[in-house]
Amino acid sequence: MNNQSLYPKGFRSLSVPTFRASTIPFDDYASYRDRGSQPRSGYSYGLAGTPTTRVLQDRITELEGASETFLVGSGLSAITTTFLAICRAGDCIALPDNVYPPVRRFATETLSRLAVETVYYDPEDPADQLDRLERARLLWSESPGSMTHEVVDFKALRRHADRLGAILGADNSWASPILCRPIEHGVEIVVEALSKHLSGHSDLLMGSISTSNEKLAGTVYEGGMRTLGVGVSPDDCFLALRGLETASLRIRQCGANALKMSEYLSSHEAIDELLYPAAPSSAAHSLYRSQFRGPGSVMTIVLSGSRTWDFDAMVSSLQNFVLGASWGGTHSILAPSILGTERTVNRSYCGKTLVRLGIGLEDPGDLKMDLEQFLGTR
Ligand SMILES: *Cc1c(COP(=O)(O)O)cnc(C)c1O
Repeated sequence: MNNQSLYPKGFRSLSVPTFRASTIPFDDYASYRDRGSQPRSGYSYGLAGTPTTRVLQDRITELEGASETFLVGSGLSAITTTFLAICRAGDCIALPDNVYPPVRRFATETLSRLAVETVYYDPEDPADQLDRLERARLLWSESPGSMTHEVVDFKALRRHADRLGAILGADNSWASPILCRPIEHGVEIVVEALSKHLSGHSDLLMGSISTSNEKLAGTVYEGGMRTLGVGVSPDDCFLALRGLETASLRIRQCGANALKMSEYLSSHEAIDELLYPAAPSSAAHSLYRSQFRGPGSVMTIVLSGSRTWDFDAMVSSLQNFVLGASWGGTHSILAPSILGTERTVNRSYCGKTLVRLGIGLEDPGDLKMDLEQFLGTR
């Protein structure tokens, strides 16, 4: 309960107070003049945070096993802010082929303009591409990766990063620090879409950047946080802190529900393949178990290629699943997709009909009925 000192004497509450500010008044000229040389946890202007922001930063830092955390307005912004802070013209970075698609767009549209080259690697066979490189500024990972949920071996990536002289980074949004702490596996900088599991109610956008490396924290602060105009609202921090109170319980229950759904789906005749490394039947399961502390709640089903699928009709039958982007809230969400140009290294899922499921807190029996109807619609 590190927030009690934030309250006026004689008053207490179990929640964290919301401090709003743009201007932060200074007592004297000298402290105003020297505001830039305070520690990063100090206060100088609202964009750089208020005590509400600091409580959330500290909670995330603790969850990640990091030494410092920065907050920005979305998970995507956490990634782009990190990349912009770290990369210089002439650098090469390596991204997994299954990276969150807007990150690929950022590399193609923005990093290329800044003369930063991007190389893609197969998350299940990183050596194939990475062994051809001599140097890289940043080796990025996302495990399990977007849509197809391949698991990477952090130990192997760490060795590649050492040889390449690269910073090893991870987008840990799928698992959240409740299920995986990449820093414990040799990752130096880790990003979370707090919009997903940690805030947990499908109504908030925020991202975090955490590191245990003091020099890297300085780089992110000086080269990203201080120059790009990014920051978060204290009201959103309050909501994220409220979400964190139940994050572990929600994530574990969603995972248990997801595991039940995976058992039902793995033998369904309408499904060619279930992409869910938390399932004991998955080929990636032993690697998954060595790095994750329980089942996650996001999976993808590859629908049978021997049928045509009428998504208009299928989606209109849904009673519980919501059709939409994102996941990690209390509601189950479903997103059909056909992979196209998002993959350049391993195109084995391109052209197939995929449906991503983010399992929520509903009764698994109700969800099963919904999917039965969804998959049975012709
Ligand atoms: C959703 C997501 C993001 C982006 O988070 P936003 O807060 O929606 O910008 C980044 N990475 C992964 C893996 C995601 O699933």
